[in-house]
Amino acid sequence: MDTTDRVETRSASLISSLDAARLKRGFRGDLVLAGDARYTEARRVWNGMIDKRPALIAYCTGADDVAAAIAFARMRGLRPAVRSGGHNVAGACLCEGGLVIDLSRMKRIEIDPVRRLARAEAGLTLGEFDAATQAHGLATTMGVNSDTGIAGLTLGGGIGKLGRKYGLSCDNLVSAEIVTADGRLLKASEVENTDLFWGIRGGGGNFGIVTAFEYRLHPVGPRLLAGSVVYPYAQARDAMRFLAEFSREAPDALSLDAALVTTPSGESVFSISACYAGPIEEGERAVAPLRKFGKPVEDRIAPIPYLQIQAAGDPIFPRGRRYYWKAQFLRELADGAIDAMLAAFPGAPSASSLLVLQHVGGTIARVPSAATPYANRDALYDCFPISIWDDPAADETNISWARALWDAIHPFSTGGVYANNLGDEGEDRVKSAYGANYPRLAALKARYDPENFFRMNQNVRPAQAPE
Ligand SMILES: Cc1cc2nc3c(=O)[nH]c(=O)nc-3n(C[C@H](O)[C@H](O)[C@H](O)COP(=O)(O)OP(=O)(O)OC[C@H]3O[C@@H](n4cnc5c(N)ncnc54)[C@H](O)[C@@H]3O)c2cc1C
Repeated sequence: MDTTDRVETRSASLISSLDAARLKRGFRGDLVLAGDARYTEARRVWNGMIDKRPALIAYCTGADDVAAAIAFARMRGLRPAVRSGGHNVAGACLCEGGLVIDLSRMKRIEIDPVRRLARAEAGLTLGEFDAATQAHGLATTMGVNSDTGIAGLTLGGGIGKLGRKYGLSCDNLVSAEIVTADGRLLKASEVENTDLFWGIRGGGGNFGIVTAFEYRLHPVGPRLLAGSVVYPYAQARDAMRFLAEFSREAPDALSLDAALVTTPSGESVFSISACYAGPIEEGERAVAPLRKFGKPVEDRIAPIPYLQIQAAGDPIFPRGRRYYWKAQFLRELADGAIDAMLAAFPGAPSASSLLVLQHVGGTIARVPSAATPYANRDALYDCFPISIWDDPAADETNISWARALWDAIHPFSTGGVYANNLGDEGEDRVKSAYGANYPRLAALKARYDPENFFRMNQNVRPAQAPE
């Protein structure tokens, strides 16, 4: 049993307003205690299934507040959780009876358009980051839902429509400012604390709390050729086979995400969502084979503002609904996988649920897998059924459907998984996210967080010192 195990059983009631006042002395932010009128709202996160009751939520204003909150958690023996965008599907940013160190109000961003760099505080959402960088005609890889936090996303990797051209979000990281478990504020980059810099590019929140990220930016937009081509279910098998070939040969600038979804009129369809990160005319040539294929019921490919492309998925994932997913990487869209997807999808208990195929590869695949902790670079698709529903009584049915679909596809998977798409799935699955990089992560954890203070995450256990 380590230190955190011994102390985590403290209950929320042990944190009194006197304790909070003690923390407040060295703290410029805002504190919300269990029982406070704002508590119910403060403990809410994106996934409506999550119902955890931390003792205290500390809204930080900067690195000093983060260090003060860490010191307080240590002094009172409280388990810490770290929240930025609050989007982790399993609610890892909250903890029962512990201290939530919340960075969601830290939203400063400075852009150097000449050097094409952005210094962004950890509380920014993707939408806020994209809006600020696009004001200069610039962007870097970010995910597909504008409400997601840049922090959790970047620390776990960061897959998005620009990834095939520019790499993962973490591949575009130039430096980061981190408060470690012992309260030190460190800078990590290719020249400072290089081991830590390696660890935070995919290793999640295991090594400390990142207060700010510095990203490399690229000229993007303001419009890109993008949009969906939608096929009826009767053509889905052919369209998926076409996608299997087309996506494998696609240029880096072309991203081809896809999904099985149910339309508002109740029909299942297969949708391919293209985005070309380059000149519109070049994009027209690149997507021409897709637009010529089959008899789609809809073709919405057009020049669209990048910010609109990045927000296009938002209506599918509103805050507060109930969500469950289970992910795995595919190296190809094999016929067997296509059959499994098509057989199981129509049994979805909720019409809001979908099966997502997020296109990776390209530049992501050319970064050596040991260069950062993000190990599964050889995949072509991240594949995950997403259950979305509202009625708590239907939890089991919806979760079971996603798990059964995952099981059916599993024989065709690489065995790898994206750390940011993991729920509460246990240590073996965390190892599947990191593959051969896991021992190096465990050694780094032993160096920066030997007590496993930061463990509300896809946890890497500190390596044991040799006897
Ligand atoms: C609707 C939706 C769409 C998504 N789409 C994509 C996508 O397109 N591409 C993609 O790559 N991912 C995507 N994701 C997954 C997303 O990357 C993860 O959920 C990520 O953890 C979200 O980051 P957050 O800051 O919002 O998370 P939070 O829930 O706030 O944090 C999650 C975990 O990250 C760690 N963490 C957060 N902030 C910090 C910090 N400042 N310092 C240290 N550790 C920290 C902590 O361990 C925390 O438990 C999506 C998620 C959702 C819900």
